[in-house]
Amino acid sequence: MSACIFCKILVNELPASIVYRNESVAAFLDIRPVNRGHLLVVPNLHAETLADLPEPIAQEMMAVAQRLAGALRRANLRCDGVNLFLADGAAAGQEVPHVHLHVIPRNRDDGFGLRLAPGYGTVSRREELDAIAAAIRDATGLGLY
Ligand SMILES: [Zn+2]
Repeated sequence: MSACIFCKILVNELPASIVYRNESVAAFLDIRPVNRGHLLVVPNLHAETLADLPEPIAQEMMAVAQRLAGALRRANLRCDGVNLFLADGAAAGQEVPHVHLHVIPRNRDDGFGLRLAPGYGTVSRREELDAIAAAIRDATGLGLY
């Protein structure tokens, strides 16, 4: 038996307010919403990090999130905008170790937002940006450039 709360939701061992489900992903309401209608899109298989997730399932998570963002705007909820947010790893704020994409309805005055680190706003030197880009490019193994 999995100790993962999202896996338990997916096998109906824990309750959830399910909005959508197909063969690879499910979406349900966050029990601690930022705003009413705050959704989580999760893979049906247990994967802790984005890197653990098969790419077609990651693509399906985004496709479902796109449809849900549209639904939030059409539903009878306050929704002036939508944020998609995925915390990959504890250092990024991931609290449940099962990949999940937040679909968060936003209102102009809801007070939610990302807190910027001290020193944010400094424009980086081009040489530094190019060196970082090269390091990431090399790590992709994709030959992107
Ligand atoms: Zn899980």
